[in-house]
Amino acid sequence: MEFRLSPEQREMVATVRAVTQERIKPRALKFLDGTFPWENLKDLAEIGITGMAIPEEYGGLGLSVLDTALVVEEVAKGCYTTAMALMPQLGVQTRILAQYAPEELKRRIFDGVIRGEYVLAVCMTEPHAGTDVANIKTNTEIKGDRAVINGTKTLISKVDEAQLFVVFTRVDKIAGREGIGCVLVDRDTPGMIRTGRFHTMGGEHLFELTFENVEVPLENLVIKGDGLKKLMSAFNTQRCLNPSISLGLAEGAFEEAVKYCRDRTAFNRPIGKFQGMRWKLAEMYRDIEIGRSMLYRAAASANPYPDPHLAALAKMYCNEMAIRVTSEAIQVHGGYGFTDEFPVSRYFRGARYGTLGGGTTETLKELVGKKIINDFPHDGFLGMGNF
Ligand SMILES: Cc1cc2nc3c(=O)[nH]c(=O)nc-3n(C[C@H](O)[C@H](O)[C@H](O)COP(=O)(O)OP(=O)(O)OC[C@H]3O[C@@H](n4cnc5c(N)ncnc54)[C@H](O)[C@@H]3O)c2cc1C
Repeated sequence: MEFRLSPEQREMVATVRAVTQERIKPRALKFLDGTFPWENLKDLAEIGITGMAIPEEYGGLGLSVLDTALVVEEVAKGCYTTAMALMPQLGVQTRILAQYAPEELKRRIFDGVIRGEYVLAVCMTEPHAGTDVANIKTNTEIKGDRAVINGTKTLISKVDEAQLFVVFTRVDKIAGREGIGCVLVDRDTPGMIRTGRFHTMGGEHLFELTFENVEVPLENLVIKGDGLKKLMSAFNTQRCLNPSISLGLAEGAFEEAVKYCRDRTAFNRPIGKFQGMRWKLAEMYRDIEIGRSMLYRAAASANPYPDPHLAALAKMYCNEMAIRVTSEAIQVHGGYGFTDEFPVSRYFRGARYGTLGGGTTETLKELVGKKIINDFPHDGFLGMGNF
């Protein structure tokens, strides 16, 4: 059992850390109003990060899920918004396209993704169906060589910036999980209308999008049938990247808390000399280490997608851990922790997202609970991933 990152991975993390700390973190505050961090994506593109998940034959680096998780963790230590902006490049959208999109389309878009100029949005959630994704109503009708989409999506990220939308849809109104597929829509296609906008506590804007007889060529219907199974297995990648944001935010907040404990004095001594503060730091560090072990193990299980139960466990733990740790980092900073003078309030806002996106904590507990009831062995505890 090897618990060490490879020399290449350590070098990659050090490079991303330098860019994040020197350029990305100092700009983080300005993205709280919904501004998209294009300049940060450019900086990350310069060191190859935006092409990490794209196969080598299309000019990317074709790196593993663990590699992408390590990078996202490092970026999140500096800026939640930038880590979220990396999701399309490193997450489920890119992996679905790499596996299922027509060759011509891949050649057209991957180059822009690698350069940090091309953003992909994913449209899954609908006003009546978020967790209950198998119940979506958006439908794509096949009419000769065209596919025609009607329906409404909501809480969609990066709508202002995306050039291409990866839309989960029912195909020809076929009911149930088997009827779900996936269609690609270019941003300026007529009939795709923004019908709502929400500003989040993390800073970004989310949108409601209505599709009214949106017509695309039939080859854009990249998954026609039994799509939910295919999409969900790719989605386990997201279930490792979402917690890597949580882990990075917890670590960023922890680093700030340690600094503050050394610098801030009360009763004529640094507050780090008080047991009350030191125990807090010890508990925060313990929880970060547990989360890191769970997450790296889940990410390292990818072949090509991570084990769903290891990913669910890691996600559940890291998401909740980050809320606790970032909140404690605010407590360490006293009243200043609640202001924008220190980054800890930003980390906390971002951390609140984790349990909501990419499968809520409740859904993941269901997934793991079912596995335990059905398969837990009676003759010993081998751990998830082994039974
Ligand atoms: C910052 C952010 C970015 C997002 N970006 C995107 C995006 O780009 N594209 C996209 O498609 N969506 C996006 N979403 C939406 C996100 O995927 C959904 O919010 C999520 O799937 C949950 O769906 P919902 O909000 O409809 O909640 P619901 O499904 O209505 O759930 C409400 C509550 O009920 C609980 N619940 C539901 N079912 C069960 C059950 N069976 N057992 C126990 N509890 C249950 C949930 O856990 C939750 O606590 C984003 C959300 C956020 C916050």
